[in-house]
Order: sequence, then C-alpha cells, then structure tokens
Amino acid sequence: METRAHRHVAVAVAVGAAHLHSIPLAGVAVSALCAAITAGGWTSPDVDNQPLAKEFDSLVPDEVLGNGGPLGHRRLAHSWLLPAAAWWAWGRNAVGVPTWALCVPEGALYGWVSHLVMDLVFGERGYGHPKGVPLFLWWGHVGFGRPNEGPLALWTSRAAVILSLWWAIGLVLPGLPLEPYVPSWWRSLTAP
Ligand SMILES: [Zn+2]
Repeated sequence: METRAHRHVAVAVAVGAAHLHSIPLAGVAVSALCAAITAGGWTSPDVDNQPLAKEFDSLVPDEVLGNGGPLGHRRLAHSWLLPAAAWWAWGRNAVGVPTWALCVPEGALYGWVSHLVMDLVFGERGYGHPKGVPLFLWWGHVGFGRPNEGPLALWTSRAAVILSLWWAIGLVLPGLPLEPYVPSWWRSLTAP
C-alpha cells in the first residue's frame, strides 16, 4: 500500500475510534495527525525501507541472528510485538498523565498498528522479503499479498477518506446517523 493510502486509513481509524470514548474535538484532531505521521514514511514501520536504513542494514551483519536478521524491509520494525510492548509499557507507566496528552500516543498507536494491518493485506512479496508481516520478531511472515496498487488498495484508500469525513461530521453533529457501528458489549465495557 502506498504511503498516502496508509495515512488515509490511519486517519479513518483515529476519527472512528473517537466515537468510542469521549474525547474533545481538538484531541481528535491531534490523534488523527499523530496517526497520519506514524502510518507512513520514516516515522512509521516503513522506517526500515528508507535509504539510510538500507545503508545501515548493508553495513551491519545482522543476518548472523538468523532468519535474514532483524534489519531490512518488513522485518523487526514491522513486528506487531513492538506496538504491543509499547502498549504494555504505557499501561504500566502512564498513571497520572493528563487526558489531553493521551491523544498523542493513542493516535500514534492507531497509525502504527493500522500500517501493520494494511501490510498484512497489501504487503507484496519482493526485494528479499516474503509477503505480509512477521508473526514473530522478524520471521514467520503471514499475509495476503494483495497488489499494492491494485483496485482493492485503491478502494480501501478511498473508503477511508469517505469514512473519515463521515465520522468527522458525526463528531461535530452528534445525533445524526453518522456513527460507526459499535457492538453493545463494547459500549458497556467502555461506558464511564
Ligand atoms: Zn510497511
């Protein structure tokens, strides 16, 4: 999936998630911005695909660690274990953080994780890496390998833009039938 499409999906996730718990509109904007930042380019899992990272990979003999090594495109930087570890560490250490500041890590996590999910679907085989994303640290890739620039990727990106607008209007004008579908068990779980 292209960088711009990754950002579209991330913003949709952040705006949609804002319907799940009460968060001020400015916070939604910050969350969506952070999601867009961590969904594409060198501030995203694709940091491993940047020229500097490739240069670094060519100099470091990380292959001795097995399975091709942690460096390289869609390897360790694309492991779901990294955001999981961040989530775990945050839960242990973020006590007392003001609510308004939460939208930054929350948005960043949406961007990063949505990137991994999209690569699971659209991460093609090539350049020495298998399709999809690693199930373990940097090996055991799983994925559907759908074409990066195919119609499904294109329409996923377009749908994300439409949903972002739809859900953003729903936030500004509550009461309209513009909310994402949320299962009742989730609502009861997150009710204040
Ligand atoms: Zn990627």
